[in-house]
Amino acid sequence: MHDRIFLSSPHMGGSELRYVEQAFADNYIAPVGPHIPAFEQEFEAVIGHGHCVAVASGTAALHLALRLAGVSPGDEVLCSDLTFIASASPIVYLGARPTFIDADPATWNLDLEVLEAHLSARRRAGGPMPRALVVVHLYGQPCDMDAVGAICAEYGVAVVEDAAESLGALHQGRQTGTFSTTAVFSFNGNKIITCGGGGMFVAKDKALADKARFLSTQARDAAPHYQHSELGYNYRMSNILAAVGRGQIEVLAARVEQKRALFAGYVERLGAQPWIEFMPEVPTGRANRWLTCALLGDDAASGYRMREAVRLALEEANIESRPIWKPMHMQPVFAQDAFAGPGADEAMFARGLCLPSDTKMTEADLDRVCELVVRAARG
Ligand SMILES: *Cc1c(COP(=O)(O)O)cnc(C)c1O
Repeated sequence: MHDRIFLSSPHMGGSELRYVEQAFADNYIAPVGPHIPAFEQEFEAVIGHGHCVAVASGTAALHLALRLAGVSPGDEVLCSDLTFIASASPIVYLGARPTFIDADPATWNLDLEVLEAHLSARRRAGGPMPRALVVVHLYGQPCDMDAVGAICAEYGVAVVEDAAESLGALHQGRQTGTFSTTAVFSFNGNKIITCGGGGMFVAKDKALADKARFLSTQARDAAPHYQHSELGYNYRMSNILAAVGRGQIEVLAARVEQKRALFAGYVERLGAQPWIEFMPEVPTGRANRWLTCALLGDDAASGYRMREAVRLALEEANIESRPIWKPMHMQPVFAQDAFAGPGADEAMFARGLCLPSDTKMTEADLDRVCELVVRAARG
């Protein structure tokens, strides 16, 4: 049996352990210590924007961002429908409810026409407008943030960029996560770089970053004793994980090129097949190709059968692949919530597969995976 090929596993660069050893030498085994501000500054330099706060997870960062956007009980918050649940759950943590916006098959990101139509209908109805939008750069595909920004400015909706999957991707030459008042990144184990677990909250303004840092450390007032005038969270990143992050940030640019080369390798081997359609790359940006994703077959029914045949054949060979995210409006936990759009992402979900996109894969691995895909797809 070959060693397992993973969808996207941690890939250390080399200097992570040196930074971790330094944390041990300093005995900063805590959510304080010199690696935290250093990681934040190095991250800021990479995205070239704003003020960063290292936190325990991407989900925690999103919770902070939505709270700072003023999301309150009873609010409506818009959210990309085709995404991982962490984009949406912090909306509910704050007592608000999500309205999910359908995906556009041309970009796989949220459908801008559906977004605009929903906001315009809300305005005509004359009731309260949605408080905020969580917009996801899906699988590292940069969303058109000029269009999103213009629509949301027109309707007074705050924008939070969920860039958890898109670190290193560019929109109009600029890093994703730099186009809105706040944005979040994730360093979970399968992301393009990882700390084992962790996230980054990014704010355009320093005051907002300071407020996030305050909330992430239990909202402690300036006093010698422990005093609290509002409720916070225990969301700060630990010094040891920040040490891992510092090593990982050094190899981010290399990982983006490796992910893109893997994608190109799949297209080279499979692109001519009539039964596969790879996630396109938008003309307005450069994807990081975190995962190579494709739609199989030509409709939901045939595509679903083919996707499952391929997935199971790969699993049989000890190779990990995974259906694309199940849309949020199809999730039992959100059965009561609103959904805007024709449901274009339902067929995408039926047909969509994430192919193994591990940066440690060799050309021979890629050959083997593609041969198995072709054999299984042809039945
Ligand atoms: C991974 C991910 C998150 C959450 O990040 P965690 O660090 O796992 O909490 C949020 N949104 C999207 C789109 C993600 O893929």
